[in-house]
Formats: sequence, structure tokens, C-alpha cells
Amino acid sequence: MDELNYCSVCGTKLIKKECGDEGMVDYCTHCDCFKFPIFNSAVSMVVFNKDKDKILLIQQYGKKDNILVAGYINRGETPQEALRREINEEIGVNAVSWNYNDSIYFEKSNTLIHNFVVVVDSEDFKLKQNEVDYADWYSVPDTVKYIKPNSLAKRFLTNALQIRGLI
Ligand SMILES: [Zn+2]
Repeated sequence: MDELNYCSVCGTKLIKKECGDEGMVDYCTHCDCFKFPIFNSAVSMVVFNKDKDKILLIQQYGKKDNILVAGYINRGETPQEALRREINEEIGVNAVSWNYNDSIYFEKSNTLIHNFVVVVDSEDFKLKQNEVDYADWYSVPDTVKYIKPNSLAKRFLTNALQIRGLI
């Protein structure tokens, strides 16, 4: 990756150096350390109700687009821990089960997004103020209709539903 040609800390031009089993890795001779690719990690969730016949879509930050619940993974957190925390914080319900769906790298924010299909314990959500403007449950066919077109959220949703034979 281009941003790794120079050290992000001191600006020295990086060289390639042998790093054990990893092979040749970018290295800063000034800082005396290897420079592995740095990127953000996030989780995104297709949230089902307990009966698995409805999916929750949300709107955030003053936009009218219907999207999936999502959030960044904190340092030291696993994706599974992050999804349980985000669901609890953003919509005020609890995840009772989760299955990995797919991952997509989003260039614009340098973020690797892991998507999970999650079942929550209640349809009675409580939105976190200032973060989620609006949320609602949709039937499975309606989610495909109403989710933001040409979005990562739509790709994740469509993939999850196709794998399960729901669309
Ligand atoms: Zn350096």
C-alpha cells in the first residue's frame, strides 16, 4: 500500500527487511521497527427478530438512507464482542445469537468491515440519542426494497439472504 512507503511516525523512507515467517516487510531504520499495514476494523449486522421474519434497518446522522446497524471494533475487542456491545448501545436490545456472513474492505475509510447475521431478544428497541435517528422492522422482501441502493449494507444483506434461501 502506498501510505506504507514512508514511516507514519517519523517520515523516513521504508525499506524491505526479512521478518521471520512473514517474509519481506516494510521497515523503518530510524524507528527500528517493522511497519505492517494499518487499517480500521468494523462490524455490520443484519439484525433479525426472534421469529427471524423481520429485519431491523436504521437511519443515522440526519440522512434518510436505510442502513444496517454498524460500528467500529475497539482495540482489544473481538468482532463478536463489538457486535454485542454495538447492538446494546445503539438499539438497546441484546444479541442472542450471531453467525458470520461476509467481509468487505471499504477503501474510503480504510476499514475492513465484518458482517454478521444477528438475532436479538426483543423487537422493542430503544434508540441511542444522537446516533440513531430512526429504526424500524421490515419483512425480509421489504428490506431488499428499502435498504440504501448500491451500498455495502445492501451487498451484505443480499448475500446473507441468498445464502439462507430467503430471496
Ligand atoms: Zn520511523
